[in-house]
Amino acid sequence: MDTDLRDITIIGGGPTGLFAAFYGGMRGASTRVVDSLPELGGQLAALYPEKYIFDVGGFPKVLAKDLATKLREQALQFEPEVVLDEEVTRVAPQEDGTFHLEGRAGSYRTKALIVAGGKGAFEARKLEVPGYDDLLGSGVHYAVKDPETYRGQRVVIVGGGDSALDWVLALKGLTRELVLVHRRDTFRAHEHSVTLLRQACVNGEVELRSFHEVKEIHGEGRVEGCTIFDNRSDEHTTFAADAVLTFLGFKPDLGPIKDWGLEIRKNRLVVNHLMETNIPGIYGAGDIVDYDGKLDLIATGFAEAAIAVNNAVHHVDPGARVNPGHSTNLKVFQEK
Ligand SMILES: Cc1cc2nc3c(=O)[nH]c(=O)nc-3n(C[C@H](O)[C@H](O)[C@H](O)COP(=O)(O)OP(=O)(O)OC[C@H]3O[C@@H](n4cnc5c(N)ncnc54)[C@H](O)[C@@H]3O)c2cc1C
Repeated sequence: MDTDLRDITIIGGGPTGLFAAFYGGMRGASTRVVDSLPELGGQLAALYPEKYIFDVGGFPKVLAKDLATKLREQALQFEPEVVLDEEVTRVAPQEDGTFHLEGRAGSYRTKALIVAGGKGAFEARKLEVPGYDDLLGSGVHYAVKDPETYRGQRVVIVGGGDSALDWVLALKGLTRELVLVHRRDTFRAHEHSVTLLRQACVNGEVELRSFHEVKEIHGEGRVEGCTIFDNRSDEHTTFAADAVLTFLGFKPDLGPIKDWGLEIRKNRLVVNHLMETNIPGIYGAGDIVDYDGKLDLIATGFAEAAIAVNNAVHHVDPGARVNPGHSTNLKVFQEK
């Protein structure tokens, strides 16, 4: 038996990919999940772990990191192979109908492929300033894993969107000093968050530096300070800081996925109502796909994952039904 050959390989361990892994296991398929990040959870874990989500069925309110934990738990019960810190760079269809995948660290074989790559392998927009690259991971971060890390620290947050404001509001009261640096005086964030930010500034909990940009991040081995400048007057200000958190968004770049011969529209994979791409045996689901009426939501990603997996199972074994039946009646759970 070729143990390396899986029925279904899922590229992306975000909510869609995790649900697909669960679903594949439930359908009796051998599955593998590959993600370029060091942990499962996709955007939930990497971008907004501390935010509440209100529109996932069955959870009136759930922290993104808790939803990621539940999805992991659900996915791992069927013991899929999980390959982390691995970006799939090449997909080559084989004559026998299987696929050969190449990653930066290894190669993988699969009978069907589900691409659940979200916006692509995460690449945060960087600040092109001295100190950013050198101190990335040593006080400079583009995601917050644990807010407690910043307790008692002097923190600079850069950005004017939802993520920047959410983290300002989450960290205020925890940090010793909190400065928000934004190049404009308007925000691309929820009105309520902007109101709360203004209140926090009035209360002296946050120092807002509108019309300012970062010039340089200082430090030897760790962040020690930051120089910002007023983009109207070019006046420079330097102050001490322990951390610089940049929330400048992610590049919507599919990276290598663009070169796999798949039909792409507006940086997304074109799929039909069965979540099939233009290459038989390759399916798409979640934020990465495009079809008429597509919505980028966790809930739609779940449904697309179920459709993709059921059709992939049928592709791998034409004798297997597409319709899975109801989980309430499935033998696989009664055996557990
Ligand atoms: C701040 C914020 C708040 C949000 N709030 C909500 C909300 O309240 N409700 C809601 O429904 N949605 C919300 N969303 C959107 C939701 O998070 C996304 O729709 C969801 O994460 C999409 O899931 P996904 O699995 O398709 O993609 P992702 O979560 O993006 O996961 C894709 C994964 O694929 C990996 N990957 C990509 N390419 C490769 C490759 N070549 N090789 C290996 N790995 C690869 C990436 O590293 C990533 O981990 C929010 C998003 C943000 C940013």
